Amino acid sequence: MHKAVSSVYRKRIDETFRKLQALLPRFLEVRQEMVHGWVGTNRRKCGNPRCRCAQGELHESPSFGTREGGRYVHRGIAPENLERLRTATGRWREYREARAKLVKTFERLLRDIDALEQCLCVGCPDPLSPWKNPTEEEQA
Ligand SMILES: [Zn+2]
Repeated sequence: MHKAVSSVYRKRIDETFRKLQALLPRFLEVRQEMVHGWVGTNRRKCGNPRCRCAQGELHESPSFGTREGGRYVHRGIAPENLERLRTATGRWREYREARAKLVKTFERLLRDIDALEQCLCVGCPDPLSPWKNPTEEEQA
């Protein structure tokens, strides 16, 4: 057992757990609608050979993208829905980013918990022999 090293892991576990807790409001405090998707810009040619788009200046319009049945789908957006959709997809994106951070933080917590276990586990003792305490040097 390495006391010095195990205390480093204890400290890290405690800090990481606090970070994990600090992330919770980012999920619990969301009370407004979210939409799974994103708002982007659709650029296209109209087909008229004399239009500016034929020279490369494409027509732009807002588009809504999402995944349906494992495929990406894009649709136009009615102007009256644009702001609400932008806000709701932004909220969803922030939620997913917080989730990704939660996963990373949780993984770090588990890694440190496993490392602490490694620190604390001594080699398998012989249960039939006297069990000696580690020397000062072994504990360092
Ligand atoms: Zn055009």
